[in-house]
Amino acid sequence: MMVLDGKIASAAVKEQLKQQTEQLRAAGKRAPHLAAILVGTNGASETYVASKVRNCEEVGFGSTLVRLEENVAESALLEAIQALNDDPGVDGILVQLPLPKQISEQKVIEAINPAKDVDGFHPSSVGKLVQGLPSFIPATPYGIMLMLEHFNIDTKGKHAVVIGRSNIVGRPMSILLSSNLAYGNCTVTICHSHTKNLAAFCTQADILVAALGRPEFVKADMVKPGAIVIDVGITRVEDATAKKGFRIKGDVAYAEVAPKTAAITPVPGGVGLMTIAGLLKNTLAAYQART
Ligand code: NAP
Repeated sequence: MMVLDGKIASAAVKEQLKQQTEQLRAAGKRAPHLAAILVGTNGASETYVASKVRNCEEVGFGSTLVRLEENVAESALLEAIQALNDDPGVDGILVQLPLPKQISEQKVIEAINPAKDVDGFHPSSVGKLVQGLPSFIPATPYGIMLMLEHFNIDTKGKHAVVIGRSNIVGRPMSILLSSNLAYGNCTVTICHSHTKNLAAFCTQADILVAALGRPEFVKADMVKPGAIVIDVGITRVEDATAKKGFRIKGDVAYAEVAPKTAAITPVPGGVGLMTIAGLLKNTLAAYQART
């Protein structure tokens, strides 16, 4: 069994980005710049945004963090996005999800200039992705594709089962894995909460992507021996024995599943790190398209 270590794969991507940024600076050009908007003080969102900003620094990108109050009006958030759309020094914009109830996520996603849509959630980016045109790919599925590439996982002709059909993970993942790409060309089954006999589909999977947000849902008897298992789940589970009062759990019961697999991503230390790598690559692509 091989551990698909996100630290190793993301470090390789980031090293490349760092070198590309150094070359830009050496040529007298500015560095790519990512702007993040964080609404409220949700603990997990704070952690994710802080990590994105820190990773920008690591590869030499500029970054801006715009903080807005939890009770901010939708119009004020849309104005903040417009200001970043208009700022020629900003290449990529992300608004950390989820957003408070008074704000329409769809309106926010559509307010971002598609040329700066580094999260790849704008309908224009999604449409291009579906048609196989160059586009910003949502960072988590993009990161998973980068991981498959880094570890040279053979995907051609394999049966991939994706659990979850969200716009940010499951659906784009299913599109990428079924696309005619070097690390695509799978036959893909996409499962969701209405799938009958989910375990029967999972046990047929050569590649199983779990993105449902249910801690340790995938058990050993749901996994085909020798499968590649990609665990996207990140759930904070209360644990009084943990320093922070919680532990991060994936969607896969790692201890019992890992020995059955050919390769598996750990949580933490797997897909989460690759998501940031995907975001940074999108930011460089946005910069290159704009300069
Ligand atoms: P989401 O929007 O809640 O979508 C969950 C999907 O799973 C839905 O399609 C849902 O089906 C399906 N589902 C839920 N329970 C199910 C069940 N019992 N059986 C089969 N399908 C089920 O979640 P998301 O945003 O895609 O995120 C999924 C997980 O990935 C979460 O733990 C999230 O924190 C994590 N995540 C991690 C990263 C990372 O960087 N590692 C990035 C993003 C998200 P329906 O459509 O029928 O409701």
